Formats: sequence, structure tokens, C-alpha cells
Amino acid sequence: MNLSEKTKKDLISIVVPCYNEAETVPHFYNEITKVAAEMDSVEFEFIFVDDGSKDKTVEKLRDLAKQDKRVRYISFSRNFGKEPAMYAGLKESRGGFVAIMDADLQDPPALIPEMYNSVKNEDFDSVATRRSTRKGEPPIRSFFARIFYKIINRISDTEMVEGARDFRMMNRKMTDAVLSLEEYNRFTKGIFSWVGYKTKWLEYENIERVAGTTKFNFWKLFKYSLECIIAFSTAPLVLASFIGILFTAIAFISIIALIIRELVWEVSAAGWPSTMVVILLIGGIQIFSIGILGQYLSKTYLETKKRPIYLVRETEEDIKNDTGKE
Ligand code: UDP
Ligand code: MG
Repeated sequence: MNLSEKTKKDLISIVVPCYNEAETVPHFYNEITKVAAEMDSVEFEFIFVDDGSKDKTVEKLRDLAKQDKRVRYISFSRNFGKEPAMYAGLKESRGGFVAIMDADLQDPPALIPEMYNSVKNEDFDSVATRRSTRKGEPPIRSFFARIFYKIINRISDTEMVEGARDFRMMNRKMTDAVLSLEEYNRFTKGIFSWVGYKTKWLEYENIERVAGTTKFNFWKLFKYSLECIIAFSTAPLVLASFIGILFTAIAFISIIALIIRELVWEVSAAGWPSTMVVILLIGGIQIFSIGILGQYLSKTYLETKKRPIYLVRETEEDIKNDTGKE
């Protein structure tokens, strides 16, 4: 009993969301196994989450799982997005230490030993990473990212760290805390911050992908940032109410002014253009406010449906059964 306890090694789970990453998965596997080989006091499991890829990602994962027992994978029934993929990977993880990494090697595996050491031996529950530069990224993307972080940090109580990546290692306690937030509209960077715990930050310069192309275009990122604002702030709702009150006040003052003008100077109202402009302005603000309400309502609607966050089509267990039959 005592002996087995002594020889029991820590298990590190590496969660890797993959969407059309057939080209990068082998590179990633090579690099991460090199790091794993150097850390002989711990064991590893690699959980690849195929997020409904349309290329040969699943085939690559099947091959790896056959070669290497440490490789596990979950293949989704369709593309659900990186957020559900991360959630699924965390949920499947069995390790006392869990790390999330992109498949494209933009998250350097060389940091894993240092991260593990900090979570295990220092008083930290997680080690997170942020990019110190956005070198290699289109300037327009960096510009909007900066504006987004300014806005969200002003209107949300949950701190969003600029340049933070999803690459981090957590202990079991924090992983379970993240998993306990079962919301459908997930913004994991915010969830990490919301659950709290002690986090150490590491910085590194932006690294470009080894192969393939980015899966996030400008429009996808824009929608993602709106998702974050709605998930972590109700400020837009307050803004809508505030503008409503402001304009009602202005309208009241104007009505009183008009009545006084009519009674005292008997000037009848002139100027259709100004009237039209005011009607349009107020109409626009009303529709804008209804739009904001609609955004929150639609998110609430999706949450109340309690749909599953992801659906699995295949895992490494399935191919184990296959080989048993042969
Ligand atoms: N990803 C995913 N589902 C998606 C989009 C992306 O699982 O719908 C994965 C992708 O395979 C990669 C990671 O998320 O491992 C980060 O994506 P990418 O490198 O394209 O984003 P970028 O680094 O350009 O922001
Ligand atoms: Mg990338």
C-alpha cells in the first residue's frame, strides 16, 4: 500500500482542441512527446478533441491512439467551436494537473515543466500565459483586440487579461471549478478569471503557427467578443435604460418649452426637418435598445433549453473495440 502510494506518479492531462489540424497534429505530437520524455517523474495523457474537422484530423488521431496508449481523443458530431472543445477535453481529463494547448504549436510545449513545477510546488492553482507581443498578427486585428479589452474591463467585474491565451495548466481543484460552470454560452477566458484561485502569469512572444491557417477570421472574433460582453457584463442593458431616461427627460423639457413658447409668444411650430430628425433619432435608439434586450434574451433562451454543449461521434474507446473484433 505504502509502496504503491510512493510509486504513484502524477498524471498530467494535455487537452488539445483541433479543428482541421491534420497538418499540425503530427508536429504537435512530436514536440509534446519530446517534452514528456524529459519529465520522467510524471505520466501524461494527451486528449485531442476533434471539433468536427472536415480534413483528415480524425484519421491522424486514430493512428496516434493506436500507436500510443497515452493518446485519447474525442471526435464531435460537427463543428461546435473551440469553447465546447476545451470543455469536453477538461471533462474527459483524469489527471491531477490539466493543461490546455492549441494544436498549432503557438503554445510552446517547452513551458510545460515550469508550469507543472509552479502548480505542484509553489502556492499556485494554475499557471496561465499571455503574449507580450502580437507580432505577426494583422495590425487591424491587434487594434480591435486592444479596444475590446479596454471596453470589457471597464464594464465587467471579471478581469480579462489582455493578450491572455487559453494555454494554461490547472490543478484538479480549479479544473473541477471550471467544469462546474455548465453554461452553454462559454467564454473560457472569463470563466478562468471568474472562478478565481491563485494564478501565476507567464509571458512569451507571439509564435506563428507551424502549418495550416487560423480558424478565427475577423467576423468570428467579432461575434466571440460580443459573446464575452454579454456573458460577463450587463452594462449594455444599463446603457439602454440610461439612454431611455435621458431622452425621456429631454422630451419633457422640450414639451414644456413648446407650451410656454405657444402661450407667451404664440409662435406656432415650424421646421419639419428638425422634427423628423428627432423622431428618427429616438426611433433608432429604441430599436438599438430592443436589440440589446434581444441579445440577452436569446442567450437566456439558449441557456434554458439546456442543450448539450457538445455531441460525441467517436472516441479512442471505439477503435479499441474495433481492433478487438478483428
Ligand atoms: N479550434 C477548434 N474549433 C474551432 C476553431 C479552432 O477546436 O472552431 C482550435 C484550433 O484547431 C486550434 C485552436 O483552436 O488548435 C486555436 O485556433 P487557431 O490557431 O486557428 O486560432 P488563432 O491562434 O489564430 O487565434
Ligand atoms: Mg493558433
